[in-house]
Amino acid sequence: MEISKIDYYVWADKVADQLKEKKVKKHILHGMWTPSGFFHIGNSRAELLIPSFVHQALKDLGISSEQNFITDDFDDFDKIPEDLHVKKKDFEQYLGKPLREVPSPIQGYDSWADFFVKDVVSAAEKFGVKPNIISSYDSYKKGLYDKAIKIVLDNSEKVIQIWNQITKGNKQGMIPVMPVCENCNKSATTLAVSWDGKELQYSCTHHRKYSQGCGHKGKLKPGKGNVKLPWRLHWPATWFIYGTTFETAGKDHFAAGGSVETGQAFAREIFKIEIPMQIPSEFLLVDNAKLSGSSGNVISLNNWLEFAEPELLRFMMISYQPQTVIDFDLHSNKFFLLADRYDEAERVYYGNENKDEKRQEQLKKYYIYSQVKGLQEKMPVQLNYSIAVMVVQVFPEKSLSELVEILSSKGWIHTKALTHYNKEKLLRRLELAKNWLKKYAPEDVKFEVQHHVPKDIELNAKEKQALHEIAKLLKEKEYDEKSLFNEFYEVSKQLDLNPPDLFKAAYRVLLNKERGPKLAPFILTLGKEKVAELFEVV
Ligand SMILES: [Zn+2]
Repeated sequence: MEISKIDYYVWADKVADQLKEKKVKKHILHGMWTPSGFFHIGNSRAELLIPSFVHQALKDLGISSEQNFITDDFDDFDKIPEDLHVKKKDFEQYLGKPLREVPSPIQGYDSWADFFVKDVVSAAEKFGVKPNIISSYDSYKKGLYDKAIKIVLDNSEKVIQIWNQITKGNKQGMIPVMPVCENCNKSATTLAVSWDGKELQYSCTHHRKYSQGCGHKGKLKPGKGNVKLPWRLHWPATWFIYGTTFETAGKDHFAAGGSVETGQAFAREIFKIEIPMQIPSEFLLVDNAKLSGSSGNVISLNNWLEFAEPELLRFMMISYQPQTVIDFDLHSNKFFLLADRYDEAERVYYGNENKDEKRQEQLKKYYIYSQVKGLQEKMPVQLNYSIAVMVVQVFPEKSLSELVEILSSKGWIHTKALTHYNKEKLLRRLELAKNWLKKYAPEDVKFEVQHHVPKDIELNAKEKQALHEIAKLLKEKEYDEKSLFNEFYEVSKQLDLNPPDLFKAAYRVLLNKERGPKLAPFILTLGKEKVAELFEVV
């Protein structure tokens, strides 16, 4: 009987241990993506971060590995995304051409593909991920796929047989490659007609929704990128070329008859290679919706850095099993939970908070995997995200540096001499909070502090009396968050008032709204004298 090995704290460690069994000298970890639109944080899960965590886990085991990020820029330009606001008529003529041969949607880049790839590359490093960026277009043009194409052509009958069997398709007699038409430079519109072992005859007579064949008939010797492989063969051919040992892909590829099933069959029976370990990865939803690179709700890696630290994205990705859907709240205050969970793991890592042993070890691991710049010796200063969101709204006119001073004087951060690292961390968090408020925060999180009691305010006699009482107490006594909170309950009780009604009354005076940030920390941040002045004149 086989005894199950250790209970893994983190899925990446389990994957690394499974890869270790394979006794490969060097593991090759792949991510793949077509640069037709923005690379969103959902793409980053399967194609960048999961392989990078496995890379890290292998390194911890002393096993050598390399991470490749394949950009499929030889793929067709098959639609003009709506949200890029490019002029349709400027780009229609390029439909059906490889993404690398289409002009960039924005000036200053070599091609359509180049623009989107640069956006990923510029951000990936900030997330601590440094894969080899490999262009499929260049690889084909350099002849790296020549051998694989020859194998496919020489075995095309068997390829088609497998293809039909798995997909229940009907491709009898087809030659499963895509010659690039010498007349119009498109490959989506060509049909390979015959292969004599040396030359490939084709006709450019295939019609697609987005592109029409030019009618050219020609003959070519396959090599150096004049023939492409269709996706179902391109994928296993890529494993064959690079010796891929690990990869993950969106779970839709794993459906019965899908490209994983054909890819594995082609790998074994046509390319005669061992298949890589493949794990399906689930979607990442933002506010319950799927992200799409070609529609409006994209959150790219660079977008992420406007409202959260890169460590938070890494933390989210490592703390969910790849096969679990992540539903990330961006437009609600549930967003703070991610930051809170990260801070909790940080406290556990530095021994400032205890959990049961298993959870503790797991959180420590998550924390280590989340780091971009290595671990600090001492626990970094923490500024709760919701406090940051409150402070930047209470003092909208203050600079970020002034806000740090205020936070320190109000006791929100507990340190006398801030190190450079901590100061930078705090400034960054405040800036992120500001950006989040501006771009993503829901209305109920936003507020404006009132400098005078709002004119049309309606409070009953009891509520007024309670606020007067609190004003008096604020002037007389010192409070911390907890004691002030309790005082509100105390005063409510004495006056036989419902506590929520008193809270509402306070928010109406201070914010001209019925709800707001947690009242006690808010009053302490605002300054109890100022609050007392407003409360006593209602
Ligand atoms: Zn053509």
